[in-house]
Amino acid sequence: MALFDDLLTLQNHDSTADRLRHRRVTLPERAELDARRAAYGELEHRRAEVTERRDAELRDVRRLDDEVKNLEAKAKAEDRRMYSGTVSSPRELQAMQADIDQLRRQAHDREDEELEVMERREALDTEVAELEAAQAALVSEMDTLVGAIGKQEAEIDAELAVEEDARAALIPGIPEATLRLYEQVRAGNRGIGAARLVGMNCQACHLALPATEVDRIRHLPAEALARCEHCGAILVR
Ligand SMILES: [Zn+2]
Repeated sequence: MALFDDLLTLQNHDSTADRLRHRRVTLPERAELDARRAAYGELEHRRAEVTERRDAELRDVRRLDDEVKNLEAKAKAEDRRMYSGTVSSPRELQAMQADIDQLRRQAHDREDEELEVMERREALDTEVAELEAAQAALVSEMDTLVGAIGKQEAEIDAELAVEEDARAALIPGIPEATLRLYEQVRAGNRGIGAARLVGMNCQACHLALPATEVDRIRHLPAEALARCEHCGAILVR
C-alpha cells in the first residue's frame, strides 16, 4: 500500500539524515582539533611559567648591573680622594687603598654573578622561543583542521538539505496519527520507526515474529497498521 511505502521512504530519508548528523558531530578532525587545543593550552601554561622565570633573571641582571656601577663609582670616588692630596696620613691612605680594593673585588664578584644570570636568561630565552615555535606550528595545524571541518560540514549540510526536502515532500501524504506514532517509535528505537516485514522477520530489530502473528498481520486489511511485538516498529508488508 502506498501509505506504508511512503512511510518506508520517509524512514530511509530519516535514517540517512541521522547518519549524516552523526557523521557531522563525529568528524575525526574534531578530535584532532581538541587534542591540539589541549596541547596548545599546555604549551601556553609552560610558556607563561618560563617567561616569568626569564623575566626574574632579567630583573636580576639589571639589579647586579646597578650594583656593579654603584661599587665602581664608589671606588672611583675613593680613588680620586686618595690622589687629591687632601689625605696625607700614610695609615689613612693605606686604609683607603684597602677600601678601594675591597670595592673593586665586590664589583668583580657581582660581574661574575651577572654573567651567570645572563647565561641562564639566554637559556630561558631559547626555551621561550622554542615553545612559541611549537605553538605557532599548532596554530597552523588547527587552522588546517578548522578549514577541513568547515568544508565537510558544508558538504554534509548540502546532503542533509536534500534529505530534509525529500522528507518535507512526503509528510503531506502520511496521516497525522501514523506520523506521530512513527516519530514516537523512532525516538525510542534507535531511529527506526518503520521497517519491512520480510518472511518472519522484522527488519528493524531482526527478530522473528511468531508464525501466528505473521499470519494475522498478513491477513489484516491493507490500510490496517501492524507493529512488531519486539521493538514496536510499524511493520510494512
Ligand atoms: Zn522489530
